[in-house]
Amino acid sequence: MNIHEYQAKEILKSFGVAIQEGKVARTPKEAVDQAKALTSETGTEWYVVKAQIHAGGRGKGVVKETGSHGVVLAKGIDKVEEIAKGILGGVLVTKQTGETGKKVNQVLVAQDVYYPGESATAEFYMSVLLNRQTGRNVIMYSTEGGMDIETVAEKTPHLIFKEEIDPKVGIQAFQARKIAFNLGLSGKAFKEMIKFVTALYSAYVGTDSSLFEINPVLKTSDDRIIAVDAKVNLDDNALFRHPSYAELRDITEEDPAEVEAGKHDLNFIKLEGNVGCMVNGAGLAMATMDIIKLSGGDPANFLDVGGAANAKTVEAGFRIILQDPNVKAILLNIFGGIVRCDRVAAGVVEAYKSIGEINIPVIVRLQGTNAEEGKELIDNSGLKVHSAITLQEAANLVKEVMA
Ligand code: GDP
Ligand code: MN
Repeated sequence: MNIHEYQAKEILKSFGVAIQEGKVARTPKEAVDQAKALTSETGTEWYVVKAQIHAGGRGKGVVKETGSHGVVLAKGIDKVEEIAKGILGGVLVTKQTGETGKKVNQVLVAQDVYYPGESATAEFYMSVLLNRQTGRNVIMYSTEGGMDIETVAEKTPHLIFKEEIDPKVGIQAFQARKIAFNLGLSGKAFKEMIKFVTALYSAYVGTDSSLFEINPVLKTSDDRIIAVDAKVNLDDNALFRHPSYAELRDITEEDPAEVEAGKHDLNFIKLEGNVGCMVNGAGLAMATMDIIKLSGGDPANFLDVGGAANAKTVEAGFRIILQDPNVKAILLNIFGGIVRCDRVAAGVVEAYKSIGEINIPVIVRLQGTNAEEGKELIDNSGLKVHSAITLQEAANLVKEVMA
């Protein structure tokens, strides 16, 4: 689960990681109030207004309606309202959002931590993630922060360092020192970096996250080390251990079809193709996507309806797939192992009738227990549904209807 920068920073702070302080706002007026509150807490008089969306690249990104960037410096309280107006409610397009962009519903009004001057500061990159090959956590860091880390990795890979951490023993003092040293720090900043990276690692472990990415980590002009940006990815499989994180979820940032599918316990992932598919079992779903490709189509989604393919789940699946205007045909591929094919077929007929006219070809392939009975049920239903027994037949039908 992805969360917003302001939420990630609250988590970091609770683990003792120094952050750029800020307050979130939903309207330009509220942004001004929050800026004032921030000044009374931190003394800051310059601010930075930051769009809160689940995507990076906001600094260089542009708001479609106003031309404003997604991260804008406000040199004085009188600038905050106008800047917030230029960002809030607009659609921000960044390298990571794609052309459609993302609507900005909230901004973070943060203290300008580069103030009073940028000359004495440095921007680093730091992330914590899992190395699946070694089964260890790894801290990746670089002196080249602030910019696109992908570009650094491509053009100057030697400037990216990696420190592997044994999850059983955690980060060792010598490792934290090595990181601070490799970043070229000394004196107070060196000590601050040791504190920073140690706290960051404990936050990563303590939250059961799958990714922590801080870009930039800033060395301020008075040698403090703080997180200016924060991308945190919480591991969905561990969310049950952190019930309080449920409220961090922002479904307006997620694909509506995927949110809807989640409500029906369907495993759904939206893709870019034109053939919708609904399958029971993840392995069969993958095979089905392959066969769609081989027959000249392109899967519009991954959808595993799970073990209990009944009229209700089939109907929900149809409705979700049909929301996608790119879909030109639907392939339903069910293996009757635990579930009987005739019951699935009855479910398809019921779902089809309940939805009303489905104006695109539907191909149903049933295999396994009572497959013949299921096919008969579909063939006799009078619906415009093509039925098949083998996967090859189904693939041929897809090819036919797509021609
Ligand atoms: P991103 O573009 O989505 O990664 O958003 P960031 O939070 O990383 O901000 C983008 C850039 O804005 C950073 O790399 C900084 O260079 C700059 N920035 C962020 N906060 C401040 C600030 O307090 N003062 C100044 N002067 N620049 C800032
Ligand atoms: Mn950033």
